[in-house]
Amino acid sequence: MKYVSTRSKIRPINSAEAILQGLAKDGGLFVPEKIPKVKLEELGEFKDKTYEELSAWIIGKYLTDYTADELGECAELAYNWFDIHARISVAILIQDANNPTAPVGNMELWHGPTAAFKDVALQMLPHLMRMALKKVGETKKILILVATSGDTGKAALAGFADVPQTKIMVFYPDGGVSKIQRLQMVTQAGDNVNVTAVRGNFDDAQTGVKKIFSDKKIRDELDKLGVKLSSANSINWGRLVPQIAYYFAGYLEFVKSGQLTLGDKINISVPTGNFGNILAAYYAMKMGLPVKKLICASNVNNVLTEFFVTGTYNRKREFFKTITPSMDILISSNLERLLYHESGGDFKQISRYMNELNNFGKYKIDKPLKIRLDKIFHAEYVTEDETKLFIKRVYDSFKYLIDTHSAVSICALSKYRGKTKDLTPVLSAATASPYKFTGAVLDALEKSAEGVDDLAQIALLNRFTNAKIPKNLATLSAAQILHDDVCDKEEMAQRVLKFAAE
Ligand SMILES: *Cc1c(COP(=O)(O)O)cnc(C)c1O
Repeated sequence: MKYVSTRSKIRPINSAEAILQGLAKDGGLFVPEKIPKVKLEELGEFKDKTYEELSAWIIGKYLTDYTADELGECAELAYNWFDIHARISVAILIQDANNPTAPVGNMELWHGPTAAFKDVALQMLPHLMRMALKKVGETKKILILVATSGDTGKAALAGFADVPQTKIMVFYPDGGVSKIQRLQMVTQAGDNVNVTAVRGNFDDAQTGVKKIFSDKKIRDELDKLGVKLSSANSINWGRLVPQIAYYFAGYLEFVKSGQLTLGDKINISVPTGNFGNILAAYYAMKMGLPVKKLICASNVNNVLTEFFVTGTYNRKREFFKTITPSMDILISSNLERLLYHESGGDFKQISRYMNELNNFGKYKIDKPLKIRLDKIFHAEYVTEDETKLFIKRVYDSFKYLIDTHSAVSICALSKYRGKTKDLTPVLSAATASPYKFTGAVLDALEKSAEGVDDLAQIALLNRFTNAKIPKNLATLSAAQILHDDVCDKEEMAQRVLKFAAE
């Protein structure tokens, strides 16, 4: 399997090179030349196997320059951390009491070390990168630089900690992340990790990191230290491909529960931001997972809903800060990969669309492409009040607690069912533990959290609902603080060089 760019004709490269490069030189994203297929009978054989085995098998269909043993090792190292009993678990709710054959499987993807679904990819990526370095004969160390507004920083730290031939450095805005988010980061152990606060806001931290990436002098100095810069952002193929596996796992959980027979169709609903998670569902569908519709769920930053309804992507709109911050996005980068595949690999057209987006803030896809997307996708957006209403409704009906992002997915799905009367069983992606968004969840349950800090809110929510607190959040207040460095934004480059030399 070789990889090409979404924006121009390039020499096809192996997956190891694509993972190390991250972004193609023409600014495009790497995509597989062809989407591989799996047979249902083959999938059925994984019913009694572990998530590691399933994951290595699916990933192996794409990363053909890795051996089965290598991928097996990556999966073991990535997922041994996950709660043994729960990894990718599906809580099956019969959402519609009048339709007991229309179950909703709430696929909990948040049993990793940071209690959010980004762990599934970020636990795997570092191992894929480490092996990629070997494959291309690179002897330098990779230094991952991250600017974070909260969650991605911790997930990346947890993934790269103590992975050989890598280092990771995370900058966050001083005073600009929640108390829990800060504690999660500054207590991160590992010989190869550094966490530094920047005096300024998230934009200052991000601009600082971008500057370092484009500064030739710093790169030369790092080169002398035997260090190469890289990033772990969500458009890297190595972050996307591990996500495809869990849709197969979720489907098998449904089969194991007796709610489905192998071969029955499902719909999949995904709370969407950068379009990575739902794109993974699209790849699973194209590989042969029996899926009828993909439901793209958005919050009031509804640029994707409008796109799927009208065919026009328009980023020039008001930006809202919501209780689903991980979906507060106006440019969904991974959409580019979908457009590439569904246009039959028409890189000239994709390149035009992306130029229009860059220069004019919008583009309109042509009719044939729009018709193709209509067959696969349905899009809905959900307001803040509806999000809270669904947290309460699901809790009251099933005594089952979901977070704000997961609620957006369930609410969008409910709108879809209301409009279409399509009662196909649904797999809904639950992307974070409710304990990561305690303020909004308490509010939804009509419990006052006024004046209560976010660590105390965890205890409060636990007292009200009895829902289990993820281990790493429960032990956070007792964890030792290991990183307390604060710098000005002008000092970021110097901090990077210092850490690289350690
Ligand atoms: C990142 C994230 C999302 C959005 O996923 P995309 O792959 O960016 O579409 C949804 N929910 C949570 C909790 C997230 O962290």
